[in-house]
Amino acid sequence: MIYLIPTPIGNLEDMTLRGIRLLKEVDLILAEDTRTSQKLLNHYEIKTSMQSFHMHNEHKKVAQVIQEVLRGKTIALISDAGTPGISDPGYLLVHEALKEGVKVECLPGPTALIPALVQSGLPSDRFVFEGFLPPKKGRQGRLKQMAEESRTTVFYESPHKIVKTLGQMLPYFGSERKLAVVRELSKKFESNFRGSVEEALHFFEEHTPKGEFVIVVEGTKSK
Ligand code: SAM
Repeated sequence: MIYLIPTPIGNLEDMTLRGIRLLKEVDLILAEDTRTSQKLLNHYEIKTSMQSFHMHNEHKKVAQVIQEVLRGKTIALISDAGTPGISDPGYLLVHEALKEGVKVECLPGPTALIPALVQSGLPSDRFVFEGFLPPKKGRQGRLKQMAEESRTTVFYESPHKIVKTLGQMLPYFGSERKLAVVRELSKKFESNFRGSVEEALHFFEEHTPKGEFVIVVEGTKSK
């Protein structure tokens, strides 16, 4: 059995009771960054041994992990924060494990996109998640496509690209399109900017973005 266990995106109290119990019970924890996850394990007095499993070694490790599970081990995968497989390693392991007939279970738990969407005030009945935009090539094309989407769109952005991204959005989304820029969910300096694309651009040009961000954009009405 492989468990994918969501971990807090800021506030350590957001770890679920079942997540803690399973992290104590499994034979091995695969962690994106063992040093980051050690803090969580220490906090909850979890003594299970850990190995690293990240985007640079997952292709090499996946077959070995599946072999261990087929020999009877129970393994948990965690990422630095939130739900594994959501803009984090996880997909490859799940895909390969299912091919080999291994059982996979992802626990419900912390992820940044859902609270950002729900507290944005934009329609949350139907939405699209875009993960991160392409870093260089393909950004404009992706933004153009996103601007034509009629459902609410949620995506992740790093702080040093917020101003650039809002500036690139303007010609496609127009100055009036509503959005929410949700910052530092569940942390001390959590804040939300709600307004138009243009207002957000002016705001973040004057207030240097710091921390972690989710952008939630209203869908187009012209469809
Ligand atoms: N697996 C995570 C999840 O389930 O949300 C996402 C990991 S991805 C590498 C990291 C990105 O998620 C950040 O750059 C940011 O866009 C978003 N994020 C993570 N924690 C956040 C938080 N506390 N507040 C706002 N955004 C957050």
